[in-house]
Amino acid sequence: MEKLIKSWENLPLPPEELERKREKLRRLFEEVLTVLGYDWKNDPNMVDTPRRMAGMLLELVEGNFSPMPPITTFDLSAMDGAPVPVPVFVGPIEIKSLCSHHFLPVVGRVYFEYLPSERVLGLSKIPRVIKWLARRPMIQELFTRQVIKTFKELLPETKGMAVYVKAKHMCMTVRGVNESGAYMVTEAFDGLYEKDENLRANFLRKVGE
Ligand SMILES: [Zn+2]
Repeated sequence: MEKLIKSWENLPLPPEELERKREKLRRLFEEVLTVLGYDWKNDPNMVDTPRRMAGMLLELVEGNFSPMPPITTFDLSAMDGAPVPVPVFVGPIEIKSLCSHHFLPVVGRVYFEYLPSERVLGLSKIPRVIKWLARRPMIQELFTRQVIKTFKELLPETKGMAVYVKAKHMCMTVRGVNESGAYMVTEAFDGLYEKDENLRANFLRKVGE
């Protein structure tokens, strides 16, 4: 029996497992098109669609099955003089995801800031980890918390963190309420950012959305 995971979890799989999944999905998408009533085998625009759908789906959820990007941290205390922690702000970081309710795309931007202690993260690692977390079916509220939780595990001594997420959910723009202009905005604060209004205000000023 295959091990099952929740939409936000991660279970790295070897390439041959992913290939097996891709093949299974291709066959199922053939059936989906048949159930919908399409003569896809004889439609030049659809004959290869089941394979494309399988590849597309696996690409959109690849954060579930690929390992976390490698992380580098740098020790500030090894540098000259006493380290003075200053907030490190990164953004906008583009994310492309899926909503776990409808499996429709979620496209948006993430802004992240943290107040390091002795160690800092390699700068390019922050977008890489955030994109990896986004590449799976998400609920935006949960994803926002998950960003904090993940970086806290990577840098437990960090003094505080802030995350701001602004995204468009296609399940709201192309169906249902059909509201194409609306964004969903979520934010989460941890550590000193929970108590210090100035830190929060400075972060949101940098976000400037
Ligand atoms: Zn949705």
